[in-house]
Amino acid sequence: MAEARRWNLLNVLFLTGTLALALVLVPWRLAASGLRWSEALVFLAMTFAVGTAISGGYHRLFSHRAYRATGPVRFLFLCLGAAAFENSALKWASDHRVHHQHVDTEEDPYPIGRGFWSAHWTWVMEDKSLPLAGVADLEKDPLVRWQHRHHFLIGAVVASLPLGIGLATGDLLGHLVFGVVLRIVVTHHTTFFINSAAHMFGSRPYTDANTARDNWLLAPITYGEGYHNFHHQWQWDYRNGALWYQWDSTKWLLNVLGWVGLVGQFRRVPGSAMTRARLHMEEKRLRERLVLASPGIANPMRDRLAASRVKLDAALAALHDRQEAWGRKRADWRARGLAKAEAWREVKAEWRASADVHREELKAAWAEWKAARLEAQATLAYV
Ligand SMILES: [Zn+2]
Ligand SMILES: [Zn+2]
Repeated sequence: MAEARRWNLLNVLFLTGTLALALVLVPWRLAASGLRWSEALVFLAMTFAVGTAISGGYHRLFSHRAYRATGPVRFLFLCLGAAAFENSALKWASDHRVHHQHVDTEEDPYPIGRGFWSAHWTWVMEDKSLPLAGVADLEKDPLVRWQHRHHFLIGAVVASLPLGIGLATGDLLGHLVFGVVLRIVVTHHTTFFINSAAHMFGSRPYTDANTARDNWLLAPITYGEGYHNFHHQWQWDYRNGALWYQWDSTKWLLNVLGWVGLVGQFRRVPGSAMTRARLHMEEKRLRERLVLASPGIANPMRDRLAASRVKLDAALAALHDRQEAWGRKRADWRARGLAKAEAWREVKAEWRASADVHREELKAAWAEWKAARLEAQATLAYV
């Protein structure tokens, strides 16, 4: 017999209570007094600050150690993140690391296999009290330990900041409705969408070994966390939207903090590895469809796809190795203070010429792959 579900009453009341309050109070306030500028600005500022603290702090910094941050940044992320009311950074990171390690299995704290709403928020309401696991590194950080002990109090203080502006402007109720209640609900559900919608809707360009999806629609409302297929493949990368045209406001903010020296040591997967993973998935999908074609058509097509893939992989690897070697050489010359020397200019010109050759080879290999892929797709259109 299935075990009866036990509920965590505090979490149930908090999650459903804040949502019910927002659903009643927001339309009432809008109808009664409209939306004032300061209410809208305070709501947006708090939503962005707390959401980014979850994305850049709880998630990318504490759960994945995707970069290093100085004390003031860690302190700020811990204080703002507490106002999300999603537990302490330590507990959040523990659950999240288990999610990555056991994604889609019974050990995953929020597997999508149990349904959208379970992964979205009912898992938070269940009385499971998962123990802390795999966070010994974080437990060494005194700031993390301090936040773990007092996260509710810290969160309450930070979440109440809009009330101060409400008092100063003589509009306490409006700032309570938009700056506190609505903000808490929006913060909750934008985080929850990553566990639910980003495991259900979207594309899987890098891997189909798990249910995580890239969803560009989710990215702007989740501070860049919508590219979840990329994230599950390279969870230690400080970016989620790794391509230049993908929305990732957390990455942009971290870049700015990096320029002023407050954060650093960003971890990034090389672009060539991303391209190789994407190619692997494209080929895999074409091969799966080629099973439907007759062997006479499918076999030569498969051979052509495989041959052009090998060529493309080799060209990508060659360019990547060249760039790595160049990076090392440049660092070495810089360390020796030779970057401005005449000989350096010659080395640079020589490297540029050889990189151009590699780029041309890569271009030709891409064209060959594209032609093979298009031919396979055209053939499959008649199968
Ligand atoms: Zn996930
Ligand atoms: Zn993650």
